[in-house]
Amino acid sequence: MLTDTHGRTATDLRVSLTDRCNLRCTYCMPEEGLDWLPRPELLSDDEVCRLIRIAVTRLGIRDVRFTGGEPLLRRGLVGIVERTAALTPRPHIALTTNGIGLARLAGPLKEAGLNRVNVSLDTLRPDIFTQLTRRNRHQNVLDGIATAHQAGLQPVKINAVLMPGLNDDEAPDLLAWAIQHGYELRFIEQMPLDAQHGWQRTTMIDAEHILASLRTRFTLTPEPAVHRGTAPAERFVVNGGPHRVGVIASVTRPFCRTCDRTRLTADGQLRTCLFATTETDLRAALRSAGTDGTDDAIARRWQHATRAKALSPGIAEVDYQQPKRPMSAIGG
Ligand code: SAM
Ligand code: SF4
Repeated sequence: MLTDTHGRTATDLRVSLTDRCNLRCTYCMPEEGLDWLPRPELLSDDEVCRLIRIAVTRLGIRDVRFTGGEPLLRRGLVGIVERTAALTPRPHIALTTNGIGLARLAGPLKEAGLNRVNVSLDTLRPDIFTQLTRRNRHQNVLDGIATAHQAGLQPVKINAVLMPGLNDDEAPDLLAWAIQHGYELRFIEQMPLDAQHGWQRTTMIDAEHILASLRTRFTLTPEPAVHRGTAPAERFVVNGGPHRVGVIASVTRPFCRTCDRTRLTADGQLRTCLFATTETDLRAALRSAGTDGTDDAIARRWQHATRAKALSPGIAEVDYQQPKRPMSAIGG
C-alpha cells in the first residue's frame, strides 16, 4: 500500500501522458506555449504501462486517471487505456481532457475500457472561449462532450474555472446548461500553478463567490459530508435534486487531510502532491539495468516517497513557493 505518516493511503493515480497542449488557457500557459519536454525524456507507452501495472498490482491503486497537458494528443492513448483495463484487479479508468478530438476518440476509448471523462469547459460563449483559451475551438469541445455522453462515458463531468472580468458571471448559465444535458458540473478555484506566475489571491474567484453567484438562481443544499469521502469536490444538491454541482476549493477550503492521490509526470517523475516542490525519479529506475530497476525496487521507491508526503503544501501561507513545474507539466 501507499501509506504516509499522516495515516493517508493513496489509491488514486493521476498519470500525465504529455505536457503539450493545443489550447493556451490563460490560467495555465502563456500564449507562446512552453519549452516542451524533450522526447527522449518522455516515458514510452511500455514504460507508462509498466508503472501503472506496478501501482495497480502491488501498491493498491484502484483508480487511474489520464491527464496532461492534453492527453488526447498522446498517440498511444487508446492502447494505454486498453492495457490498463486488462489489469487485475481492474482499476476504474478516467480521463481529464479539454475535449478537442474527443468527438473522434470517445468511441474507441470507451471500447478500450475507459469508464469516464472530465471535460474542461469554462464558458458557453464562443468569443469568451477564444479569449480564455486563445484558440477558436469552442464548437469542437461541445461536440466532444456530446459524443462522450452518447458513447456512454457517463456521467460526463465538466470542469470550469472562473476568471475575473471574463466568465465570472457565467456560473448560473453553466449550471443550467449542465442540468439540461445531464452533465455534472464542478467549479475549480484558480490555483497558483500557472507557468506565468500570474495567480493572485486577491483577484481569484473563490468558492464563496461561486456559491453566492449560483444561489442567485438555484437552491443549493450541501450534501452530507459522509458522501464526500476522499473526493476533492464539495457537492451541493440543486433545487432539491436529483442534480448536483461541485466546488473544488483547493485554495480556500483545502482537503489535504483526506487526500488519496499520487501522481506521475509524463517524464516519469513521481509527485505525492500537485503542489509538491520535490519529485522522485522513477524513470531512472525504470531505465536502470541493475537491481534498482526491478518491479520490487520501483514499488519500494514509490512507497518510500509516499511515506514522506507532507500534510499540506500550505498554499495560503505567505512563504508558499509555487512548484517549478506548471500545472500542464504536472498533470492536473
Ligand atoms: N488539458 C486537459 C484539460 O484542460 O482538461 C487536462 C489537463 S488540465 C491541466 C486539468 C484541469 O486543470 C483542467 O480542468 C483545467 O481547467 C485545470 N487547470 C489548469 N490550470 C489551472 C489553474 N491554474 N487553477 C485551477 N485549475 C486549473
Ligand atoms: Fe491545455 Fe488543459 Fe492547460 Fe488549458 S488547462 S492550456 S487545455 S493543459
